[in-house]
Amino acid sequence: MIKKIVEKFQKVNEKLSNSLEELKTAANAPLSSKHVYSFEEGNRSMKTVLGGKGANLAEMSNLGIPVPPGFTITTDVCDVYYRNNQTYPQDVLDQMEDKLVELENKMGKKLGDANDPLLVSIRSGAAVSLPGMMDTVLNLGLNDVSVEGMAQKLNNERFAYDSYRRFLQMYGDVVLNVPHHEFEKLLTQIKKDKKVEIDNDLTANDLKELVKQYKTLIKDTIGKDFPQDAREQLKLSINAVFDSWNNDRAILYRKLNDIKGLKGTAVNVQTMVFGNMGETSGTGVCFSRDPATGENIFYGEYLMDAQGEDVVAGIRTPKQIATLEEQNPEVYKELIGIKDNLEKHFKDMQDMEFTIQEGKLYILQTRSGKRTAAAAVKCAVEMLDEGMIDEKTALMRVEPDQLNQLLHPQLDPQGKEKATVLTTGLPASPGAAVGEIVFDAKKADELNSEGKKVMLVRTETSPEDLIGMNAAQGILTSRGGMTSHAAVVARGMGKCCVAGANEVVVDEIAGTCTINGQEFKEGDFISLDGTTGQVFEGKLKTTDPELSGDFAKLMTLADKYRKMNVRTNAETPRDAKMAIKFGAEGIGLCRTEHMFFEGDRINIMREMILAKDETGRKEALSRLLPIQQKDFKEIFEIMGELPVTVRLLDPPLHEFLPQSKEDIKKIAKKVGVTIKELEQKIESLHEQNPMLGHRGCRLAISYPEIAVMQTEAIIKAAIEIKQSGKNLSPEIMVPLVGNVRELSFVKKLIKQKAQELISEANIDLKYMVGTMIEVPRAAVTANQVAKEAEFFSFGTNDLTQMTMGFSRDDVGSFVPEYIGENILEKDPFAVLDQTGVGMLMRVAIKKGKSVRPDIKLGICGEHGGEPSSVEFCHRIGLNYVSCSPFRVPIARLAAAQAVLKY
Ligand code: PEP
Ligand code: MG
Repeated sequence: MIKKIVEKFQKVNEKLSNSLEELKTAANAPLSSKHVYSFEEGNRSMKTVLGGKGANLAEMSNLGIPVPPGFTITTDVCDVYYRNNQTYPQDVLDQMEDKLVELENKMGKKLGDANDPLLVSIRSGAAVSLPGMMDTVLNLGLNDVSVEGMAQKLNNERFAYDSYRRFLQMYGDVVLNVPHHEFEKLLTQIKKDKKVEIDNDLTANDLKELVKQYKTLIKDTIGKDFPQDAREQLKLSINAVFDSWNNDRAILYRKLNDIKGLKGTAVNVQTMVFGNMGETSGTGVCFSRDPATGENIFYGEYLMDAQGEDVVAGIRTPKQIATLEEQNPEVYKELIGIKDNLEKHFKDMQDMEFTIQEGKLYILQTRSGKRTAAAAVKCAVEMLDEGMIDEKTALMRVEPDQLNQLLHPQLDPQGKEKATVLTTGLPASPGAAVGEIVFDAKKADELNSEGKKVMLVRTETSPEDLIGMNAAQGILTSRGGMTSHAAVVARGMGKCCVAGANEVVVDEIAGTCTINGQEFKEGDFISLDGTTGQVFEGKLKTTDPELSGDFAKLMTLADKYRKMNVRTNAETPRDAKMAIKFGAEGIGLCRTEHMFFEGDRINIMREMILAKDETGRKEALSRLLPIQQKDFKEIFEIMGELPVTVRLLDPPLHEFLPQSKEDIKKIAKKVGVTIKELEQKIESLHEQNPMLGHRGCRLAISYPEIAVMQTEAIIKAAIEIKQSGKNLSPEIMVPLVGNVRELSFVKKLIKQKAQELISEANIDLKYMVGTMIEVPRAAVTANQVAKEAEFFSFGTNDLTQMTMGFSRDDVGSFVPEYIGENILEKDPFAVLDQTGVGMLMRVAIKKGKSVRPDIKLGICGEHGGEPSSVEFCHRIGLNYVSCSPFRVPIARLAAAQAVLKY
């Protein structure tokens, strides 16, 4: 599916660039504005122009943080580059050259110089970070002559050739499209020949030999020599980085993370500093707080005698940052000072990259650290307590949807005690995952779309595996640290991940792995605990999460700011209790039909449907009455004095009847009718479009006794609760009204029965009768409907279905394509279509209020728990949203954020 979406996106992009051919002329016109900024010229507020990396490099330079000098080519240039058929207008080229000369003068070195060359890195950086998705070229500026010059100047031949071979490999892969693994093959072979384990043990001569082999590989693959001209290298590398803005990975990442409206990436050209200059050099990644838990501890990893990609690629297992204190206390102290400074300055947890070159520290990047939901909540609450941020900022720091991670299960502690721990790796991303082993990312995606729960097990992951990581329950890797690709991406996705479990030996080709000597094949189940790093054999049970501490504090804060109430959709005591735990302030939708499916009730229901006349139906209903009354009483008891909206029977009756021959036989016997009679009834209830058929209030009109029985059950249950001293007032909701007369008809039945019972009980029980607004006609005639309805609850599932004309049960067959073709941005059943369906809601509210200004307004469709839809509901003035229990905290936070945004 995702592959399909990516392909579609590519097509769209192709079309886009073709149609934009026409704009070429305009784009060719000289640009007057500034397109290249040296770091000192920018600042943090220029993210849209300089990208996040560029803006923060600029900010750090101006703060006096040791940042290697460089310049940033703006995101506008990326846009122009694409519009200009992947070329640049002359004045952009002139500005790039000017900034390069400025940099050369500042550094006192020249790119490609034979004796003392300036080396630069070329890195991407959009306004929103797309970690690892776009390309980078390091060590640029080396060639056959300058490498010798550098070796002599630094008196370090090994270092010079190590840098050159790295450059050839990266440039070969990124710019010349020579497959990365071909370089890796040669590297592995030379290590084998020289009988060394790690790259660092290769001598200068070995590296010279490797450089030769790499150049031959490039020539054999592309039919041309590796370019020796450093300015040419630079130009092509900048192109490659701009091109990577639209590679499959970057497109997919933007799609998955809903990143839109960006012009493109900026490109940062920065003086190289070297972590691979021997034992006093190194490189690392660190966070000002723990990105997994949010704890206020300095957190990170580094490798000595290495370049950045060695840490992220997970080839060597990095050391914990704390050990840097022993290795180089001064650098460590300076790094601590810088991270404190940066966190205070940016008022957020920072994710920093650093390099130590022969004992001197440089900061190469800082950005807001990606964090798990638990960490996001902890950081927000603790930073608020520390006085670093205010309440509003704290609330805006957590993505409502991210809370999902916290609301979902952990491995059951008792089950864990009994289970076999196969191995323990690094706790890279918390939570629990249970699934069957798959070694291949695409296969993981395929099996997931068949409904299987899979666990992606790999030696290490790369951006190519994104599709499988997204599909998997969890990720297990045998290599790499806490900042390896697997760890960073899993945390971003909120997926459980155990990384660097080096006792896991994966044979991807054979489709097996051994964990501590025990063999596993594809399809075998394992369970992961991402908080401890443990890997268990088999399928473990999971448990519900604990929602206290920081989480509770954040929720209390959200409640302080939000204006809308948050209710839940619940029809079982279990769901109602759960929802209360999550902070629900009532039930916005109790779907009574679900109560008819349990145990023997379904048979009574079937007897009711199969009854020959009203008397027969009433008889069956009289047996359903006490059952339903007991259900309502239980729910009212749990909800106390909180409002509860009970909806009358909604689905078409055929949903209660059997389908298969075997079931028909069994059920005919059970309910005492012949098979033929049952078949005839099924046939008579058959509808071409049951969703638009005999359902909702239409049932109550054909069979008033059903609505009467349900009213009796609701009111009697409420009377019992009221008699026990609680002050409740149930809300009875009529579904699928499109014409006010439907509502008048059913309301009369409800009122008659309710009044009769209330007078009998001689009690002052208040109740309301209202309707769902889920038929477009009800929305546009809401001024009439509101004369009868005391409340409206928007049933946006059906309202979307009927407004768009999309069957809610069949959208899977075409909506993904619509999204791929950009016809729809989102699945309208998940994210409210504010323009169309939302307009009907606005109309209904306006018309409804015109006759009943204090009408109570809510939403109970699935959209009631989706953050952007919740925000819309706030804007249009709903009193409450109602959603499934697990989404209640998400809605509480989204409702608070809506207030802060508007
Ligand atoms: C709706 O249509 O939005 C709704 C809540 O009702 P149901 O999903 O039960 O049709
Ligand atoms: Mg509905």
